[in-house]
Amino acid sequence: MRFSELIKSKTFLFGILILTAYIVISAIIYNSVILKMENDMNADNNIQLETIKLSNSIRLTIDSAQDVVYFSRENDKKRVKTSLLKLSALIGVTNKRFEEFNKNLEKFPFLKKTGLPFENKAYYDWKNLITPILVTIIIHHKIMAKRAFMEPLFISMYKAGPNYAPLIESAFEHRIKDALYFHLILNLIFIAGFFLFFIILILFIFNISSKELKIKQSEKKYRTLVEFLPIGVYQATTDGKGRFINVNDYMVTIFEASGKEELMNTKIADLYAPGEIMRVDIIKNIIKKGTYEFEGKRKTLKGRIIDVYIACRFKKDDYGKDIIDCVLLDITKEKELEKKLKENEELFSTIFNGMTEGVYINDTRILYANPAAVEFFGYPEKELYNMNIWDLFGEKDRPVIKANIERRLNGERFYFEYTFHTFTKKGKEKYILFHVQTIVYQGRFVALAIFFDITDKVLLERELEKEKLRFQELSETDPLTGIFNRRKLDNILDGYVKLALRYNMPLSLIMFDIDHFKEINDNYGHQIGDNILIELANLIKTNLRETDFFARFGGEEFMILMPETNLIYAKAKAESLRKLIEENVFKYIYRLTCSFGVVEYGGKDNFGNTQDIINSFIKRVDNALYRAKENGRNRVEEGF
Ligand code: GH3
Ligand code: MG
Ligand code: MG
Repeated sequence: MRFSELIKSKTFLFGILILTAYIVISAIIYNSVILKMENDMNADNNIQLETIKLSNSIRLTIDSAQDVVYFSRENDKKRVKTSLLKLSALIGVTNKRFEEFNKNLEKFPFLKKTGLPFENKAYYDWKNLITPILVTIIIHHKIMAKRAFMEPLFISMYKAGPNYAPLIESAFEHRIKDALYFHLILNLIFIAGFFLFFIILILFIFNISSKELKIKQSEKKYRTLVEFLPIGVYQATTDGKGRFINVNDYMVTIFEASGKEELMNTKIADLYAPGEIMRVDIIKNIIKKGTYEFEGKRKTLKGRIIDVYIACRFKKDDYGKDIIDCVLLDITKEKELEKKLKENEELFSTIFNGMTEGVYINDTRILYANPAAVEFFGYPEKELYNMNIWDLFGEKDRPVIKANIERRLNGERFYFEYTFHTFTKKGKEKYILFHVQTIVYQGRFVALAIFFDITDKVLLERELEKEKLRFQELSETDPLTGIFNRRKLDNILDGYVKLALRYNMPLSLIMFDIDHFKEINDNYGHQIGDNILIELANLIKTNLRETDFFARFGGEEFMILMPETNLIYAKAKAESLRKLIEENVFKYIYRLTCSFGVVEYGGKDNFGNTQDIINSFIKRVDNALYRAKENGRNRVEEGF
């Protein structure tokens, strides 16, 4: 770590702040307490010295005065004279000392604060003088203790002060000792503070330097890492053209340069693809936002256009110059994929959203359904995706769907088609054709179903079928009476004649014709004639077995083909029908009769092909009928 960085570090600044605060506080304590105390103590020492000297002078003077009194009592004139001279000299010394003492008191204003008026008494009562001096000094001590912010401690120390009053030296000694202790404590605090500070300082410096070392190591590691990163990393200037300050190896790869040197010698703006946002504007954004990321197109040194993603950070280098730190990713492939994906998506949505046919993918639930499918099922989309697929279908179809899901779960791939019949909510009948195929979707076998609404087709087919039936009916029935026509009779005859021929099955034929029908027409009109024909046909129809075939052969002639029936039964049947007609009262006519011919198919008919046989069969019954007419009508004749 360089010194400039050290200065910028917050920890360092904090340390400096603490140091400054400590120095200031120490200076204040030293100046306002310790120095002051030292001054005061010097003054005290002076006073103490003066006081001791003074008290010695006083004691000596008092002793000498007592000597003079003693000698004057003994009248030893010579000794008295010497003693008086000595006394006078002592008084002179004492007075001089008083003057000095007072001068000293004048010098130290704090002693005056005690306000004790001892000076005036000095010359009169020396003995009294000792107490005020002592008190002054003791009180002064308390003031000093107060100033040192340690009043409680010293007050308690000096509470006993006045008790020492009579013993000046001892009191002084005590006081001096206390002051020295006080001084010592302050000095110790001060020294301890310094030691503490230096320990902290050493720890701090050690911490910073070890951190610096670690950072340097990690920086080195980081630089090597950056070199091998598969992304471009670079530092650049912030001017419009732009110059690389540092590039990693991968930048060389991305920009297809021959080496770092070639890339470093290229202006960054020259790497911009045509039509890109100006570099100046990008730089402006980076500076404004601090960090800025963007995508764009760049041109490699070989002229290839690539898509890039760039993220930059603005900063100042060690010299305070503006630079940017950037990472650059070549996202050409991703962009291409993205484009392709978008195209695919568009294609997909165009196809599936535009389809009128429903498409869906399902396993047990619908995984995707196109709009047509959603609309078809009619549920809200969310609900549709949450339903079991089989619940979308009718009870009948569910087992099929469940079985198919089972098959797919077992890993079977198959295709099937089925038509599903349903009714919409409004009760409209629907036919849906499903094409279902197993596909792999999201790694599993699921069904892709395409369904077509084939309702119209089915209904049309059904309509056509009906039409066909109707048409068939028309071609087989007689439009007036509703019974079979001659053509149908021919078909039936064809089948039964063949059966009779092969299995020797009995087969009989009755033919009847209305008697004098021409007259009825003439008398009642053709319309009534028609109605009579219808009434007659209905009468006969209801009196035949289901196995008998009744047909209008033409005009007012009818045929009854009776399979499994021999001539005897057929004749009896013809007779009963003749009687039935004869006795029936018709709506428009009172009496109507018919003549009957009856034949049984037999060997006589068996020559030629089937048509020849049929012709022979009919011819024989026609002959029988003719004979019935000949023989007087309203009768039954059997053929030969
Ligand atoms: P018979 O058979 O007893 O000898 O006398 P007929 O009067 O019935 O004689 P014929 O068989 O020759 O005449 C048949 C008549 O039946 C002729 C025709 O006017 C009438 N006829 C035939 N087909 C129809 C029909 O579909 N409707 C009506 N109203 N009359 C028909
Ligand atoms: Mg006729
Ligand atoms: Mg007739």
